Amino acid sequence: MSPEEFRKYGHAVVDWIADYRTRLATLPVMAKTAPGEVRVMLPDSPPEHAESFDSILSDLDRVVLPGLSLWQHPRFFGYFPANSSLASVLGDFLSTGLGVLGLAWQSSPALTEIEEVATDWLRQMVGLSSAWNGVIQDTASTSTLIALLSARERATNYSLAQGGLQSEKDPLVVYVTAHSHSSVDKAALLAGFGRANIRVVAHDSSFAMRPDAMELAIEDDKAAGRIPCAVVATTGTTTTTAIDPILTIAEVTTRHGLWLHVDAAMAGSAMILPEFRSLWDGIESADSIVLNPHKWLGVAFDCSVYFVRDSQHLIRVMSTNPSYLQTSADGQVKNYRDWGLPLGRRFRALKLWFLIREQGVTGLQQRLRRDIENARWLAEVVRQTPGWNVLAHVSLQTVCLRYEPVGMSGESLDQFTLNWVNELNRSGYTYLTPAILEGRWMVRVSIGAEQTERVHVEQLWRALQAAVLRTT
Ligand code: PLP
Repeated sequence: MSPEEFRKYGHAVVDWIADYRTRLATLPVMAKTAPGEVRVMLPDSPPEHAESFDSILSDLDRVVLPGLSLWQHPRFFGYFPANSSLASVLGDFLSTGLGVLGLAWQSSPALTEIEEVATDWLRQMVGLSSAWNGVIQDTASTSTLIALLSARERATNYSLAQGGLQSEKDPLVVYVTAHSHSSVDKAALLAGFGRANIRVVAHDSSFAMRPDAMELAIEDDKAAGRIPCAVVATTGTTTTTAIDPILTIAEVTTRHGLWLHVDAAMAGSAMILPEFRSLWDGIESADSIVLNPHKWLGVAFDCSVYFVRDSQHLIRVMSTNPSYLQTSADGQVKNYRDWGLPLGRRFRALKLWFLIREQGVTGLQQRLRRDIENARWLAEVVRQTPGWNVLAHVSLQTVCLRYEPVGMSGESLDQFTLNWVNELNRSGYTYLTPAILEGRWMVRVSIGAEQTERVHVEQLWRALQAAVLRTT
């Protein structure tokens, strides 16, 4: 494709995206696609000869769009908000268009330095002290893996430089709760801790980690000759947005010398609101934090910021230094390849930088406050309506609810809940994620898509009531 053809089709693609964003509300939220339905529309083998780009683009409407669930839709209330604000879409597009790679500072100096500035802006926005340094990773799953690798290496005095975990005499233990995200489990397993050394600490009635139970578990492990290594606390759990008490947890981790990693992947965005910062009181005593601007904040996926206090330790764990990557600037600059797993790095900072500049801190704050207000409104009307229950404290923008017909409980209630929510999802009107809480199915309403206004939450509430009526 020549630059002139690119200009023509690039404009067409931008127009297509702009139209798509404008008409989102008229499209079904959840794909009505059956398994395999997209594949059968496509040829089995690659084209022998070049196709016209017009015909390639026409497949967007024919093949692609009908096969998508629409995360940017104003009635998308599933999983978590993954806003892809248009300013950040342009940053992402430019990142690809520039086609540069950050292997070292020298390989694209602006890529590194804009990342330093954008992550430092984010640090200030969420009220962290200047002791923290940020780096962009692809996802929270990677950030948490890096945290647990760092914890492992601190606890073993850099075992990777000797015999690795295989030469350690005593097992290292990680502490989580049943409400920690599955990526935490996965990171602990991949970092070599082993299932037997993941301790699931009891939680309280608000689904938050109990620091007293955590300390008892640490003492038990110590008495049995195991080495307590790391705690992963969550600011905003996936199921209910529960908030683990960082301050008290940090007192315990400091007393026992454990690494404290805070998974604020989803709810960390809310820390740009000074009135919510008490939710992570004690955060300055953590060792690492992950916060995903690619969720509620609005940066197009993927952009997960990993904040770390001891960057020298991170570099010691992560760095490799082959001759072909060495440059004369190395002593004076950050080489972010030593702050994570991949060598090649995309220019992700552009999309974070663009979003913050285009919205301003106050613009972002206003949108998040709107979403929190909408969640409070929904929780209130649900509570006031007979038969309906709010099942967990609404700390931010997630409302966990259930309709409980008189006399129905146990498995029939589960079946009833799944029936109405699946039927509603299949209708394409809205998209909700059911989940199990305390052994029973319930429905999560995760508010915060960029286009979601109060009117859409009101529409959802009417749709929930109608779905229940249709199912009873
Ligand atoms: N942690 C929490 C609390 C989450 O809600 C999620 C997202 O689902 C993750 C981690 C995983 O995020 P990612 O997809 O960036 O790995």
